[in-house]
Amino acid sequence: MNQADSAIMAALLVEDGYVPAESEGEAGIILLNTCAVRENAVERIEHYLQHLLGMKRKQKDLILGVAGCIPQYQREEMFSMSPAIDFLAGPDTYRSLPLLISQARSGKRAASLEFNPAETYAGIDPRRQGLITAFVPVMRGCNNMCAYCVVPFTRGRERSHTMSSVLDEVRKVAASGYREITLLGQNVNSYSAPDRDMDFAGLLEAVSRQAPELRIRFTTSHPKDISESLVRTIARRPNICNHIHLPVQSGSSRVLGLMNRGHTIEQYREKIALIRSVIPDVSLSTDLIAGFCGEDEADHQLTLKLLSDIRFDAAYMFFYSTRPGTLAARTLEDDVPEAVKKRRLQEIIDLQNDISGQLLQQSIGSVVEVLAESESRRSAAQLMGRTDTNRAVVFDRKGYQPGDLVSVLITSATSATMTGTPTDSPRC
Ligand code: SAH
Ligand code: SF4
Repeated sequence: MNQADSAIMAALLVEDGYVPAESEGEAGIILLNTCAVRENAVERIEHYLQHLLGMKRKQKDLILGVAGCIPQYQREEMFSMSPAIDFLAGPDTYRSLPLLISQARSGKRAASLEFNPAETYAGIDPRRQGLITAFVPVMRGCNNMCAYCVVPFTRGRERSHTMSSVLDEVRKVAASGYREITLLGQNVNSYSAPDRDMDFAGLLEAVSRQAPELRIRFTTSHPKDISESLVRTIARRPNICNHIHLPVQSGSSRVLGLMNRGHTIEQYREKIALIRSVIPDVSLSTDLIAGFCGEDEADHQLTLKLLSDIRFDAAYMFFYSTRPGTLAARTLEDDVPEAVKKRRLQEIIDLQNDISGQLLQQSIGSVVEVLAESESRRSAAQLMGRTDTNRAVVFDRKGYQPGDLVSVLITSATSATMTGTPTDSPRC
């Protein structure tokens, strides 16, 4: 979501006559887009601001802005984080960036942090960075109130983009040569078109028909809202990737209740069973939080048991950090000691890595279709890409280019990546 927002900010600044700099050292304005979802994201920004303060001491006319979720909840107090900050913008106020910059140039510290529940940045042509995969936001904000989560306080109320604006964007992205689209929202299943009687399953179907040559992905789905019609749409449409990211957070219904997630673990398992019965070769990934308030050893064992039972392809795993203003920060005690949170997280990571590795090992000897995204980090003689099930594959280049769809024979695998070789040479 932040990458998509950065592309909107870049577009707004270019429209106002600014030119993207090749490197940080050449920039006259530096704009940091920030994430507040976990404490370590905030710590990283604090460190980076120290580095930028050093730059600013040498380059007096450098303008520094901080945008996104951290200034939205810290508000003007954020100025005290560093004397280097000239202006602040929240997720709903990017349209005021040119004004904020001109105020900063006149020597005033400026902030624009209002919520605007109608803002979807319609009409702006994002300046995306890559050329293969395009993020297309379909909604902003979140109306859920998961107890640990700061998003409703930083991104405000949920609002959906019109269906016609999403389809227009998809048309443009396809015409620009992108090969894959990821539809984005904090909870895409809550999508409700303001201009038509259409839910997310209907939108996904329409997008997949609008761009039949492109792979279509989406994230994130909330377990309580994922519908049978969505699952059937994924199964029916060949260009919608067979991958669902379905954050579970904990394997214990008691902890899910404390988290205010709105579903039990039995209901989650039922959704997984439905998904697997309709899309047998689906790949599933999840998010997990270790050491939430009130989590005991038995709850933790239930999370490990869930991982062993479901065998997710992949997981994003975090230990709990209190976020100011959230329901948990106001009403629950952060009572799991840090060492215990970290130990539980490590056990979760070890088990999940083991499972991911076993699943990838099973694919050795099979042929998978890979969308090549870039040269591999290690060598230009290899490309890196993803299967439709979102598994990373590194393979011998053999004349292929990023953007090509390549049939790859898998020859080896670790817990995160498969390695292989194309079964054909590129067609000329
Ligand atoms: N809207 C999405 C993503 C929310 S943030 C969803 O509902 O899934 C991404 C992930 O960060 C969450 O799924 C959760 O696992 C993690 N997260 C959010 N707040 C956190 C906190 N306070 N501490 C640790 N992890 C957190
Ligand atoms: Fe946060 Fe829950 Fe909304 Fe996701 S669904 S953004 S975790 S409040």
